[in-house]
Amino acid sequence: MSDYGIVVHGGAGSLTPSSKSTISLRKRILVQAASVGYESLTKRGSSLDAIVEAIKVLEDSKVFNAGSGSSLTLEGKVTADAALMTGELRCGAIGCASIAKNPISLARQVMDRSDHVFFVGNEGLQKFADATGFRQEPLEPTNERLKQYKKNIRLMKKGAVKTWPKNYRLVKNYLQKNQLSPETSDTVGAVAVDSTSKVSAGVSTGGRWLKLPGRVGDSAVIGAGIYADDFAGAASATGAGEEIIRVCLSKTVCDLMRIGADAQTACEAAIDILTARRGYGTAGVIAVDRFGRFGSARNTEMLQCSFRFRSMRRSVAVVLPSENPPKQIKVSTDLTRLNF
Ligand code: ASP
Repeated sequence: MSDYGIVVHGGAGSLTPSSKSTISLRKRILVQAASVGYESLTKRGSSLDAIVEAIKVLEDSKVFNAGSGSSLTLEGKVTADAALMTGELRCGAIGCASIAKNPISLARQVMDRSDHVFFVGNEGLQKFADATGFRQEPLEPTNERLKQYKKNIRLMKKGAVKTWPKNYRLVKNYLQKNQLSPETSDTVGAVAVDSTSKVSAGVSTGGRWLKLPGRVGDSAVIGAGIYADDFAGAASATGAGEEIIRVCLSKTVCDLMRIGADAQTACEAAIDILTARRGYGTAGVIAVDRFGRFGSARNTEMLQCSFRFRSMRRSVAVVLPSENPPKQIKVSTDLTRLNF
């Protein structure tokens, strides 16, 4: 027997006071995203539609670091990264973009309407959007994000932000004249497997707080932030993009599934590799394999997720470090024979 369904994530990081106060809100939105994705899976049947619909819920929520809730660059601007991929190796990605309210939809437009995989910057994207009739809507920072920005800048000025030591040296002078953060990274992502075992993965983010203008993170990089292959499964990562890129985290998870690991084992092994090379506190990852098994692993304090599979009665959110992912069905072993 196999299963089908969706896993969504709302970022990996540590439990800060502000994240604590919004736990139940976050859970509600994660559950809603997984439920919307699952409904799309049952109605329209495609894992691609499912992940896009789920990610749009998270982007629109303003609670997570994506779409309308994106974090800000050092200059106080929103520049989003997003990518998606299907198990047939179709993919689309955008980096440093602020012309779409739903960056995941623009990444899909790149996949569906161009022969390219990856666009960076508004200039080319605006022309592409005009040519394809994609509705442009500027991504503006929310008031909440502007408040956080001011606080982060104050911290950085005091030298209290340890995340970016080289950047800090670069921008010290800039900070004296103008106006970075220990943050919970609330990037959003989703992976799904449909009833015909086709998989897809997606991710969307405002990027890391106080990144330098022009910086593109793992979320726009196929193989790092996401990967999908119908002969293996699909994975979506979150955390310190610079570290995720170094180990091609999502491709590593898929490679492990391709040689027979189940989704959970593959996530854990890939996170072990990252931890061994780059340390704790660097990332979390979710995955589904082509048999409908799901997995999640992290070396951070928490990974905010929600799961909805046919074998479950409802979506289940897992946010707190003490919470465990729901039980999944066992897949008969002859189904999992290697198939390249
Ligand atoms: N991975 C994202 C980035 O580095 C941030 C995150 O996952 O929160 O841009």
